[in-house]
Amino acid sequence: MPKLVKCKFLIDGTGAPAAADMGLLLEGERISDIRPVSAYRDLSSDIEIVDLSTSWVMPGIVNAHTHLSLVPGKGNQPGQKRLPPGINVLRSIPNLLKDVRSGVTTTRIMGEENYIDIDFKKALESGLIHGPRMITAGVALSASHSHGVGLKPADGPFEIQKLARQNLGQGADFIKLFATGGASSPGKTLHSCPYSRVEIAAAVEEATRAGTYVAAHAHGGTGVDFCIEEGVRTIEHGAFIHEKQLDAIIRKDLWIVATSSILFHRDGIEGTDFAIPLIKEKVLRAREAAAANFARVIKSGANLAIGTDSVHGEMPFEMEKLVEFGASPMQAVLAGTREAAKACRVDDVAGTLESGKSADFIALAKNPLDAISHVRTVTDVYIRGKKFVGI
Ligand SMILES: [Zn+2]
Repeated sequence: MPKLVKCKFLIDGTGAPAAADMGLLLEGERISDIRPVSAYRDLSSDIEIVDLSTSWVMPGIVNAHTHLSLVPGKGNQPGQKRLPPGINVLRSIPNLLKDVRSGVTTTRIMGEENYIDIDFKKALESGLIHGPRMITAGVALSASHSHGVGLKPADGPFEIQKLARQNLGQGADFIKLFATGGASSPGKTLHSCPYSRVEIAAAVEEATRAGTYVAAHAHGGTGVDFCIEEGVRTIEHGAFIHEKQLDAIIRKDLWIVATSSILFHRDGIEGTDFAIPLIKEKVLRAREAAAANFARVIKSGANLAIGTDSVHGEMPFEMEKLVEFGASPMQAVLAGTREAAKACRVDDVAGTLESGKSADFIALAKNPLDAISHVRTVTDVYIRGKKFVGI
């Protein structure tokens, strides 16, 4: 039966201002029409009414960078991803629930061992479980001596091609690689690249031939330079991207995916790994750089999306940080909806509420354009036209 969603205000995610008394007509999983509620007066009685007439309705949030199984509060994240697959499936469920309850309806998973991300995606797409649309990388490519190394490191162009092909063969949507050290492991810098140019180029070539792209964990320095120069499409984290690199990112139409939660939130690295002095020092330096850097990125008009990394349920925190760095509430909302959907290449179905797109939307008790913290007032989440009540 078609559904008519009555909204007090609709923020459609296209950048248009909130519109009062709007109706979304849903047929199956899709939005078939959007008009003022009054225009639907003559609809037949064979229609289910979804009454959100006291709510602000906006597109479901797109988390452009996250992980399923990691729990930053437990510390040693690189070690966590090497846990047995059954354990990591169980660890993923509360994380997914937190995300969806905070309004996430699409999520891009940036590397899991044992292809548990792809199994989740299959379970979601087949209707075995209800939950967010999932975009997956499979096993992330990392050098033997790199941050983020998993069960199978990939060294040299041959191993990179092989693991990329195995990932694609399993059903990965894109290729993830580690192009600098990370804040959650001591001793690896956030600037130098464990991979050579030739190795990054091999990953890009393999992804491109398969019709997809490479997303790289890269904070700054030669890691970011190699990514820009060798054709990586989305640069993840980017705390130390400098002005010249930012110009090249804009010129090449690449994406920056900011991940403030892991760096700034008390449940991020701060929660446990601050006990390790090398990590604490690295995070404090990255915080300082990121605040200045993202203020510049926001002003520059570069393609910018957001993700919570291994923190869960905190896309509102990501939006709040963007506003703190100088974005308007509308820019922050778009970075977590329309722009994030473009970064993840799912903007044909997600990220905005327009006819023909998936009926992925959330209801808020308060207007997020008045104060971005109101994005925390989620009361209802709909994914593919169906109210989310649990996995
Ligand atoms: Zn990550």
